[in-house]
Amino acid sequence: MTTVLGLPPHAPDAGTAAVRRGPRPLSLVCKLCHAPHPPIASATCEECLGPLEPAYPAGRALPSAATIAARPPSLWRYREWLPFEDEPVVSLDTGCTPLLDSPALARRLGVARVWVKNDAVSHPSLSFKDRVVATALNAALGLGLGTVGCASTGNLANAVAAQAARAGLPAWIFIPDDLEVAKVVGTAVYNPRLVRVRGTYDDVNRLCSQVADRYGWGLVNINLRGYYGEGSKTMAFEIAEQLGWRLPTAVVAPMAGGSLLTKLEKGFREFTEAGLVSGAAPRLYGGQASGCAPIVHLVERGGDTLVPVMPDTIARSIAIGNPADGRFAAGAIRATGGWAAGVSETALVDGIKLLAETTGVFTETAGGVTVAAALVLAESGRLRPEDEVVLCITGNGLKTVEALQGALPDAPIIAPRIRDLEAQYGHHL
Ligand SMILES: *Cc1c(COP(=O)(O)O)cnc(C)c1O
Ligand SMILES: [Zn+2]
Repeated sequence: MTTVLGLPPHAPDAGTAAVRRGPRPLSLVCKLCHAPHPPIASATCEECLGPLEPAYPAGRALPSAATIAARPPSLWRYREWLPFEDEPVVSLDTGCTPLLDSPALARRLGVARVWVKNDAVSHPSLSFKDRVVATALNAALGLGLGTVGCASTGNLANAVAAQAARAGLPAWIFIPDDLEVAKVVGTAVYNPRLVRVRGTYDDVNRLCSQVADRYGWGLVNINLRGYYGEGSKTMAFEIAEQLGWRLPTAVVAPMAGGSLLTKLEKGFREFTEAGLVSGAAPRLYGGQASGCAPIVHLVERGGDTLVPVMPDTIARSIAIGNPADGRFAAGAIRATGGWAAGVSETALVDGIKLLAETTGVFTETAGGVTVAAALVLAESGRLRPEDEVVLCITGNGLKTVEALQGALPDAPIIAPRIRDLEAQYGHHL
């Protein structure tokens, strides 16, 4: 066995043939009953079936802002808050996407400032799922798992396929059979096993839970979910650092399984606890398409019981009817004094166009939901004139061009002659 970046190798866990080729993952702890678990490929507490999370050693040494700022520009600059004892070995260059000031959008929303966190240009697969896959693949290698995979609404498929290809790991990708063409092609090109399942994402997810147990694979959002989710925190860390080590007053993000929203809260809290930022936690706002809004309903109704729905929306990447972290997302929204908004299909398409026209960023349907939700929240007075708002733009518009069918003005074709140009456009020239 070779050493990992000069560190001595750890012995594989007793009783398994697994060979560790990655960083040692942190132990896990149940989020509900706090029962400790060793580092394992399971996301479920053996005592109470609650979700497992990495347990960070209390009193570990934390870096200063200056130390972080001097590190290479990837999400690993925040490694003390990522779930490993030593250095990552794959997916080293994900993270550090742009944060764009958007005065035009601020005027449109009637708030003081708007920034767009642009994960539409995330490396390597153009969505925020690159973050969670970066942590999950290192966990898979650290646990000695030789095969990885996922259940996906599209972007996760792209991210696992791309990063597994580069890492030289075999990947099994499970998707619903009717995803957008670019999401299918943008997975198949990396040549994983691509399994198209007749059914919804929730059907695919159920199948994958059985697959993970049966074959001992690392399915990043199923049995590696405790390690996977931590990658999302880096979006909060980057926002705080890019604002000059301070917090916005409000953040709007799209919700699918509810993990990103939940982990944004955790990320801002951890940076506050570490003394890297100060002041009130940002109010967190979640957006969903009205055709699949179980978390919005939970926020509006109150209580603890999420009622699953049958998804019916063009926002396929966030069409999860039974979200694994829905309760926690609603909890994070309540705890920070935020709210949630469901938006119509027309409104989300208008949101895509508004972001493009005001900010020069082309997002997919989920980003359209973010922008449309921000408009609803501004109109209802939940976003206020003094607010400094970050909009989380989580995916790239070239992956969901179908959404704009018939929504853009026609561009007539002319002959290559001035006469034809003037005949067509004379009144504009
Ligand atoms: C997966 C996804 C989300 C939200 O994911 P969570 O499951 O809520 O963490 C948001 N936007 C895009 C584009 C996604 O692919
Ligand atoms: Zn438990």
